Amino acid sequence: MPELPEVETIARGLALRVSGDVIESVWLGRKPEPLKSSAREIAATLEHSRIATVRRMGKHIVFDLELKLPKQASAHWIVHLGMTGRLQVCEPQADILKHTHAILKLASGRELRFVDPRRFGRLSVAHAGFEAGGIEPLEADLDPFLALFRGRKTPIKSALLNQKLLRGVGNIYADESLFRAGIRPRRRASTISRDQLARLLASVKEVLREAIALGGSSISDYVDADGEEGFFQLQHRVYGREGEPCLVCKTPIKRIVIAGRSSHYCPRCQK
Ligand SMILES: [Zn+2]
Repeated sequence: MPELPEVETIARGLALRVSGDVIESVWLGRKPEPLKSSAREIAATLEHSRIATVRRMGKHIVFDLELKLPKQASAHWIVHLGMTGRLQVCEPQADILKHTHAILKLASGRELRFVDPRRFGRLSVAHAGFEAGGIEPLEADLDPFLALFRGRKTPIKSALLNQKLLRGVGNIYADESLFRAGIRPRRRASTISRDQLARLLASVKEVLREAIALGGSSISDYVDADGEEGFFQLQHRVYGREGEPCLVCKTPIKRIVIAGRSSHYCPRCQK
């Protein structure tokens, strides 16, 4: 499942490739699951609009559109990749992959295609501003970050994964951030000191920025034709390392389950 750094990388890659291009026509498949807005509305919004830019919001990819219609100056096409969704920019003669749910013909002659075998991805359009909910972890200041956890009795790990609080922090990055901040995943959010939360915010930003930096070189894996997904990986310090020695103190890494998700931590470095 693509997490925030992957989605950021994909959005940047798309921005480089399709900004300024005009969508000439839209084909949508018959499967209903990927369409969060109606097919008619998606097609009517996208056709003849110009892609001003592409950006990430949480784990959504947002295409900012300039419409030709005189009434509404702008709109957004929002793509959530779900588990297995992919956006391809390709030449029209490229084979149409199985599980292709949308094909946008661009004025540049290329096509932008949405492919999703498992169909957890979602396509929608918005005419007013699009709000993903939660705060953006990479742009969060300390005070709003502290406010997220005030009085919250859930484990800090669950709070980090709560998309209504923070946008787009997934399981791996939550575990890695908690390790760097020295906080056990099961600690109740409300019992963590201001200083520790400040360290946690710094760790979340650091982990996400490192992963985004690593992703810069693999953009083509996501958005070019038929590349298999090749998600880059941060060097994990705890995630997926159950029983292996902690890289700091050599204590075996533990794995527990919190709210149905695997959580990895060092019982000595994290308190
Ligand atoms: Zn340790």
